[in-house]
Amino acid sequence: MGFGPPVGFMGTNSNTAARDAGLPHAGVPGHLQAEVDAVLDREPDHPPPGIVFDQRHPGGAPFTLRSFLWPHRLRLLGALILVIIETVLLQAGPLLTQIGIDRGVDEGNRSVLVTVAGLYLGAIVLHAVNSWVRIRYTGTLGEDLSKSLRIRVFSHLQRQSLGFYTREKAGVLMTRMTSDIEALSQLFQEGLVSFAVQGLTLVVITVVLFLLNPTLALITLCLVLPTTLVLSNWFRRRSDMAYGSVRDRIGEVLSHLQESLAGVRVITAHNRRRHNVIHHNNVVGDHKEANLSAIRAASIYTPATEATSVAGQAAVLAIGGSMVLNGSLTIGELTAFLLYLSAFFAPIQSLTQLYNGYQQGQAAVRKLRELLATAPEVEEAKNARPLPQVEGAIALTNVTFGYDPEVPILSNVSLSLQAGESLAVVGPTGAGKSTIAKLITRFYDPQSGTVSIDGHDLRSVTITSLREQLGVVPQEPFLFAGTIKDNVAFARPSASDEEVWQALTATGIDDLVEGLPNGIDTVVHERGSSLSAGERQLLALARAFLARPRVLVLDEATSNLDLQSEARVEQALDALLEGRTAIIIAHRLATAMKADRIAVVDNGAIVELGSHDELVALGGYYASMHSTWVEHAST
Ligand code: ADP
Repeated sequence: MGFGPPVGFMGTNSNTAARDAGLPHAGVPGHLQAEVDAVLDREPDHPPPGIVFDQRHPGGAPFTLRSFLWPHRLRLLGALILVIIETVLLQAGPLLTQIGIDRGVDEGNRSVLVTVAGLYLGAIVLHAVNSWVRIRYTGTLGEDLSKSLRIRVFSHLQRQSLGFYTREKAGVLMTRMTSDIEALSQLFQEGLVSFAVQGLTLVVITVVLFLLNPTLALITLCLVLPTTLVLSNWFRRRSDMAYGSVRDRIGEVLSHLQESLAGVRVITAHNRRRHNVIHHNNVVGDHKEANLSAIRAASIYTPATEATSVAGQAAVLAIGGSMVLNGSLTIGELTAFLLYLSAFFAPIQSLTQLYNGYQQGQAAVRKLRELLATAPEVEEAKNARPLPQVEGAIALTNVTFGYDPEVPILSNVSLSLQAGESLAVVGPTGAGKSTIAKLITRFYDPQSGTVSIDGHDLRSVTITSLREQLGVVPQEPFLFAGTIKDNVAFARPSASDEEVWQALTATGIDDLVEGLPNGIDTVVHERGSSLSAGERQLLALARAFLARPRVLVLDEATSNLDLQSEARVEQALDALLEGRTAIIIAHRLATAMKADRIAVVDNGAIVELGSHDELVALGGYYASMHSTWVEHAST
């Protein structure tokens, strides 16, 4: 039995153990150990994060950019100050050039020239240092904002009840978490800062132009500004439309990708790979078209504004030049004008682009606001109390429920189970068996009537304390990417290796796990696709066993198992049901017969209830199910 120390990653114990066992890979060779240690030393530490998770929807004001940024206002102010310094330092250049030419070169004053050149150099060095600090500062700030937004949306998704996931497409939720948050991330990272830098540059340059020479400034702006504004406005509208459809299209691309990955087995089995590629080609093609439309707009806008800018400079050269000849302008001022003018257009161009980024950010904010506003249907009551240790008596009293409240699936259902009793639920497909199970686990709340454990209405207790005492084994067990141990100890990650082995032994799969290359440390892949259906079921049973719930809700797997696996599952079930209240949605008579009582559900109502013998004697649905089974068994 593998009760030894776990085979840790690069651990010295595992190296020695592997070497002793004569295994081919005996860990890190000695001569490389020093390098490995050095790499591990460079790895950042990840202390456990201080995450507070509340089951209750926080409510409060709707999500807006302002409400999200407000708590970070001091840091944002810091970023703005750095941006102001950076802009002023950068825009000092042409003004210093003007002083250098007029007072230094023109007047033949060498010391002024040297001083001005020194100042220029100083300004550039300071600008570089400031820029270094600013990029790091705003980068960290942007990353912090994005991270906190991601955690907020993810926590919100974790809080949602099952109904939400039935309604929402996983692909669309992925889009919210990827491209929408990405759009906002970019806004936090560069958008807001660049917006401030460019806006400020524009203001600074305009002021300096007017200070240098109001007449020339006015003429220049009148010549170039109207064309630029018209062009920018056109471009903004065109690209706004284009990016709007890019956003929608990327949602479709991601949705299709997600569906193709999740349904890869069905796609392969039904020979739909080629069709799938064709479909993907179409959605990606639409996405490309939308992007091309934005590119076409940029291909007109960029050269047109550049041409306006150069034409403006030519005009300034002509008009300003003749003013120099008149003596109403100095050469230095003309030079400064030309330099500032060339720096004037870059901010207009970037502001137009940034406006798009801002629009995209706002669209993302709108979508996230919608998402964050959905309150979970199953919500914890404000005065919810923790559920004390229960015996496990379950009662449904006059329960009426429909996924759509207008269409009841269960009508006025009452049912009670004593602590420790097991109940098998049988009946035709679509009768409402799983729905009863979902109400007992509080995945949904009934529209009327109550569901209670030991007399505690499920709606009056905290969700966490309820789930701690409830075990659920779904029909298709989900295994997470990780080791067997991670998967079995899912409900109680602190469980020791011994406890994991006990659960595996109790459910009879210990010998199977022992046969795996790394025992309980063997990695299973996402969804457990590397294990057989029977093995997955047994692991799910072991997982429920380890959680030691008082009440167990089990949806029996319908998948056909070979006789040996079936016998194992039967055995595992015996171990699991021992001393627990259990509700089993049974698909096989053998399982139903094992339960203390059997409930037959048909059309949203319990039509028969009693022990196996009672129901056989009753001569109803169960009796006919039984006789069919007996006939099958005898043939
Ligand atoms: P059973 O487990 O007996 O096969 P269910 O309890 O799963 O049946 O389903 C009962 C009825 O409720 C069915 O008609 C089914 O179509 C419907 N139903 C089940 N789940 C949902 C859901 N998430 N949303 C809407 N209707 C549902």
